Amino acid sequence: NDLAVMMEVSVNQVISTCLSLGMFVSINQRLDAEAITVIADEFGYSTEFISSDDEEIITEAEDHPEDMIERAPIVTIMGHVDHGKTSLLDYIRKTKVVQGEAGGITQHIGAYNVTTDSGKKITFLDTPGHEAFTAMRARGAKITDIVIIVVAADDSVMPQTKEAINHAMVAGVPIVIAINKVDKPTANPDKIKEELAKENILVEDWGGKYQCELISAKSGQGISELLDKVLLEAEILDLKANPNRNASGTIVEASLDKGRGYLATVLVQSGSLSVGDVVVAGAHYGKVKAMTDHRGVKVKKAGPSTPVQLLGLNGAPQAGDKFHVMGSEREAREIATKREQLLREQSIRTRKHITLDEIGRRLAIGNFKELNIIVKGDVDGSVEALSDSLLKLSTPEIQVRIIHKAVGAISESDVLLASASDAIIVGFQVRPTTTSRKLADQEEIEIRLYSIIYDAINEVKDAMEGMLEPKL
Ligand code: GDP
Repeated sequence: NDLAVMMEVSVNQVISTCLSLGMFVSINQRLDAEAITVIADEFGYSTEFISSDDEEIITEAEDHPEDMIERAPIVTIMGHVDHGKTSLLDYIRKTKVVQGEAGGITQHIGAYNVTTDSGKKITFLDTPGHEAFTAMRARGAKITDIVIIVVAADDSVMPQTKEAINHAMVAGVPIVIAINKVDKPTANPDKIKEELAKENILVEDWGGKYQCELISAKSGQGISELLDKVLLEAEILDLKANPNRNASGTIVEASLDKGRGYLATVLVQSGSLSVGDVVVAGAHYGKVKAMTDHRGVKVKKAGPSTPVQLLGLNGAPQAGDKFHVMGSEREAREIATKREQLLREQSIRTRKHITLDEIGRRLAIGNFKELNIIVKGDVDGSVEALSDSLLKLSTPEIQVRIIHKAVGAISESDVLLASASDAIIVGFQVRPTTTSRKLADQEEIEIRLYSIIYDAINEVKDAMEGMLEPKL
């Protein structure tokens, strides 16, 4: 399918060419470099492999099942502002982090690791909120295994609660609900459960599948139980990694420290990272000079699901960049240089996110199946009406999906979600904020603004029929 898109031919032509060459392939099958070269040649194209994709540049050996051992789940806490995300993270850090050596100062490095009462480990990403989560996902990083959604029991399911639920669901990450502030006299957990049910989150004691715990980030009530529920969820996911290989993982944070140089917090996802290893991350590389954990304790080695801050890179990679340990400094430098070139080229070339105009072209080459839309509007009634009408435009060929709908201006978080999910944003009687407009330009996300519902529906319909007149 990807190859067909690149060559602007129908996917059927590619498949039949493969068949005539003796290759039985399906539409989503990955082809090796040799096959791609042969097929492209049949269509009169020559090939050059320049992808910045880690899989393409860095070939990783497959793990044997017997080398895989259990790893700690990686958790992100999300929810509405003031519902207690930071308090929960702080409470867990204070009570569950095993004390460091004397002199170790607990510091914020973007992630930390706790040992629960049952002796099991959980890794928390220390940047609460879905912006960071979705920004990482937009960069292709999948690090969160489980999301805790915090809802204050003395408040309601709020817009950002819904947004967080949405973001976790779109990412396919399991959710555990924490109803917080139950120490407050005005707390009403049942009301929250009812509101969650309206968002299709039916909690367990109401017969649903979502685990839920009543907690207080102030008194600590229910927090051990909450962590047990996270572990239960992790057990179902059967999270495993091989600690005995060259490390790879994701950058969580990076900064420049005037005295020490570039500091990067990395989350090891596979293998073990050791001092002295040569690392490449994004367009930067370097030899690991020193590593510390979140307690400020020096460590020599870090295994799967462990966050560490490392010193030694020659620049600051972006959060969400992958890192890999390489065999030699020369190899790492070559890859970093190549990526830098690619980044430069890529920023010149356009990234092809979906636009209404683009639909016609993709339809013509037969590879368009799903249209993801984010709907924002000024009042609930129009958001609902517009979303329903757009959904009804679905045809057997193209499924329309409303991945998020809400009242309010088009926010940066909407743009990030659109970027992560290849969606267009439809605004009805609302505008993007200046910063989200800028971000949309940068990410090349199409925002369509309407003041008449009928116009919005007609334009999307025309686009889906390949009939939209391109805007000049
Ligand atoms: P965030 O914006 O989601 O990170 O929320 P914070 O953690 O900053 O909490 C917002 C406010 O609620 C702060 O004043 C906290 O002290 C308070 N708070 C958080 N959790 C609880 C709780 O369990 N009980 C009570 N009574 N207050 C809480």
